[in-house]
Amino acid sequence: MQPQPQPQPESLLPPEDHRALMARLDLCHLQEEAPAMVFWHPRGFQLYRVLEDAARRLVVAGGYREVRTPQLVRRPVWEASGHWGSFAGAMFACGHGASEAALKPVSCPCHIQIVQRAAPSWRDLPLRLAEFGLVHRDEASGTLHGLMRLRQFTQDDGHVFCTDDQVRDELERFCRDLLAFYRRFGFDEVGLALSLRPPQRLGDDALWDRAERELSDVVAALGVPCEVQPGAGAIYGPKLELLLRDRAGRAWQCGTVQLDYVMPRRFDVRYVDRDGEKRHVAMIHRALFGSLERFLGLLLERHGAALPAWLAPEQVGLLPVADAHVPRAREVERELLARGLRCRVDADDTLARRIVRANHDGIPFVAVIGAREVASGTLALRHRDERWDAPGDEAIADLVRRCAPA
Ligand SMILES: [Zn+2]
Repeated sequence: MQPQPQPQPESLLPPEDHRALMARLDLCHLQEEAPAMVFWHPRGFQLYRVLEDAARRLVVAGGYREVRTPQLVRRPVWEASGHWGSFAGAMFACGHGASEAALKPVSCPCHIQIVQRAAPSWRDLPLRLAEFGLVHRDEASGTLHGLMRLRQFTQDDGHVFCTDDQVRDELERFCRDLLAFYRRFGFDEVGLALSLRPPQRLGDDALWDRAERELSDVVAALGVPCEVQPGAGAIYGPKLELLLRDRAGRAWQCGTVQLDYVMPRRFDVRYVDRDGEKRHVAMIHRALFGSLERFLGLLLERHGAALPAWLAPEQVGLLPVADAHVPRAREVERELLARGLRCRVDADDTLARRIVRANHDGIPFVAVIGAREVASGTLALRHRDERWDAPGDEAIADLVRRCAPA
């Protein structure tokens, strides 16, 4: 039997709600057969890729190396990490006996497997690994909310394995980069929360004292207001969280940095120090987006359909006035694509309707190409209320500049 199309609840939502925008902009959808897991449409996945690429540029510049680790990992790893004990209800588990396994809810223990095999010396540290990791968490259905809380999402997880002396620099550098990263997306108002040891935790109090002191010192050095949340830390260490608000004023946790002296001891991850002694590494967990999907949802609620040009799934709409002008539109399209811009040629329907459609789809730049533009080699450009003509080469250079990543 074919699945029946579901009613469209998006039509009942306020237009600025990200769930309404997901549908209106044809970005992605959710359906009951895969609850709280996203079906990305071409335009939505383009936007997803733009976010991923922006994070990847920062990750590479920060000296990280990208890895990919398995989705399904057997129980002993989750027992060693403590997840099987404290997080089991939220993991999708399968199999029995020796083959009992779970879909990963985080990538941390998998990165630890890589570092253990690398058997680093002090010269190799800090060792920085990053992954755009697809993770699964069996969240209660009442807490699910569009892209903000899903059961399958991309956690841009990364870990720094370093010596105790390197912790402070690594934490501070990551936090400064993170705040600058958020400003590029138009998030100037970012909340900071410092979450301290929870009642149920791993590791002894001396390690927690040290980790909380390090993270508190970093917050003080940043000079940014920060709310302290006693009892809200991760099971293995304190965490500093970046919070963004949606349209309704609800705060959502996005980027995070967490200091962990516990996991390296549970997995016995050591490096060989200058004196030949084997010492435990310190581990920093960090994420820029936290959940890429959640960040994308907040971005939609922040900007609506009018995303900044560098983020728009399609940056330039090329509108030939008549069929005779299509070849010139295709030529401009090829030049724009070769320069790394995202564009589409729309030749179907009246010009007025196509202009409305481009606005509706949030395409920031539109170039109308008619007989005059073909004859003169110019482009007639529009950007919101702005209109101007320019010679072809000049117009293309201008578009490249105005659509460049922030
Ligand atoms: Zn981690």
